[in-house]
Amino acid sequence: MLTTHAVGIDLGTTYSCIAYLNEHGEPTSIPNEEGEITTPSVVLFDEEGPIVGKEALRNAIASPELVVMNSKRHLGATKKQWQIRGRVYRPTDIAALILHKLLRDAEEQIGQVERAVITVPAQFSDAQRRATIKAGLKAGLKHVDIINEPVAASLCYVLGSEGLWFSELAKSQRILVYDLGGGTFDLSLVNYEKNQVSVIASTGDLKLGGIDFNRVLANHVRKQFHSELGLDVAKDLQSLQYLAMEVEQAKRSLSARERAALSCTHSGKRKTYQVTRKQFETLTADLLKRTQDITVKLLKKMDMGWAHVDVVLTAGGASRMPMVRDMLKNMSGWTLNTSLSPDQSIAHGATYYAGMLLSNSEFVHSIRNDVVVDRLSEFRQQSVNARALGILVRDPVTGYRFPHYILPPNTPLPAAVKHVYGTVQHDQRRAHLQVIESGTAESQDFVLVGECKIEDLPRELPPNSEIEVTIRYDASARVHVSAKELSSGKQATVEIDREVTEPATAPESRPPSDDSEETSPPPNPAPAATRKTTDDAGEQEFYSFFEKGTE
Ligand code: ADP
Ligand code: MG
Repeated sequence: MLTTHAVGIDLGTTYSCIAYLNEHGEPTSIPNEEGEITTPSVVLFDEEGPIVGKEALRNAIASPELVVMNSKRHLGATKKQWQIRGRVYRPTDIAALILHKLLRDAEEQIGQVERAVITVPAQFSDAQRRATIKAGLKAGLKHVDIINEPVAASLCYVLGSEGLWFSELAKSQRILVYDLGGGTFDLSLVNYEKNQVSVIASTGDLKLGGIDFNRVLANHVRKQFHSELGLDVAKDLQSLQYLAMEVEQAKRSLSARERAALSCTHSGKRKTYQVTRKQFETLTADLLKRTQDITVKLLKKMDMGWAHVDVVLTAGGASRMPMVRDMLKNMSGWTLNTSLSPDQSIAHGATYYAGMLLSNSEFVHSIRNDVVVDRLSEFRQQSVNARALGILVRDPVTGYRFPHYILPPNTPLPAAVKHVYGTVQHDQRRAHLQVIESGTAESQDFVLVGECKIEDLPRELPPNSEIEVTIRYDASARVHVSAKELSSGKQATVEIDREVTEPATAPESRPPSDDSEETSPPPNPAPAATRKTTDDAGEQEFYSFFEKGTE
């Protein structure tokens, strides 16, 4: 048995998967206790304690108020919490429970796991990355590394399809990774050359995935049921959850067949509807179009056409929908590479990365193939930041704060920039910098990464005294900040250990505050966590499937 395993975990919005590199250096998915290689990212708070996976999903109909699903969409948010059976759970707690299940089931088969690589969407903010690491540690890991999902998919393609035992692919390749999962859409352009995969550009939408396709279909059926029978399934959690399950099944069937049936039941009435693939495609056309627009925009921004792309890799369960493949074929004009397993490729890519990180440790001695060990130890990956990084600065004339970005998106990582800012007031004794990342969703202007305070500045500093700020992204897009006042050499205290990713409103929407430090409280400070009743918690989950309100 290996002393230290190279373990990779794809912690998905809807499904998660854990894998390790076996003695031959091959990524191997580890089935859960129920014998399946993917585990629903769903938690049921049973009387006897939390239950994760298929069993939890099954209970979503009987006891929806005790079930939490799609929690990854809230990872890193300060406000979100679920109160169930008198206890409060935050998104990190839910992620930790899911990871705990994956790890314990894996340990039954491969022995103790103390470190692992967990994958995150390239779009994840610093706080979301921190929350992921925190969840891993809470789940019992001693060390957590993270890797962007598209990089993992590329590693899986490059190392997996050619095999680790080959020294190198014949030529460099430019890879477009189209990853449509349950909750997120991630798109990246990746370059493979000389034993290295490097991301050229990353984009996507953190609020677009398979569950949005479900919501559209569910709303369609719900409206039809309402217009025919005058009953609204949204009035009953169990009916809603039942419909959600039916929709999921029907959607999957429609990837294999031209038509599928699904039923809706409420208040003792039941109706079965036939849905054709064409209908489903028409209903969800604008969701697909959003992924198309993002793809076109990315290529355009990079000044590239399809001729510059050598291979399109599809990943994520929702990429199984024929409309996705048709669209990509139509756009690119050629046949897609669908060789990667939509369910496992990301976890498998993460295991390669885990192997690369461990390649100088005890671990390599337990892989029996020296060629594999050598290949892993010389392989490199490089990501870029998907979000711009900067600080909030005050306009001296209007007093409003606005984002000033100093590190543009798609900068190869690690990366650091220095920028000099001026104090605002005479005799300003402290400076308070708010570090921000640009948002990715349309509704989100920017997110606060954290605060950096310089206290006890020398007396009588004139306005415009220089403060030098260094902001750094490390190789896994985690943010590090330092600052100093140049005349006194006073260093900053940096506090960025808070989970602050609530969407900030545009700075203009808030009047200037009357304190005149260089920066002051965020435009939209994260509100105190709201207490939720158990019913509210359940309702929240349904609204991730359904639109609010009734017709
Ligand atoms: P995540 O990592 O975000 O959890 P996955 O990559 O596991 O996502 O994909 C899950 C999504 O893929 C779900 O929304 C699921 O409904 C969808 N999906 C899985 N299989 C199919 C299929 N055969 N046809 C259409 N959608 C599918
Ligand atoms: Mg995924």
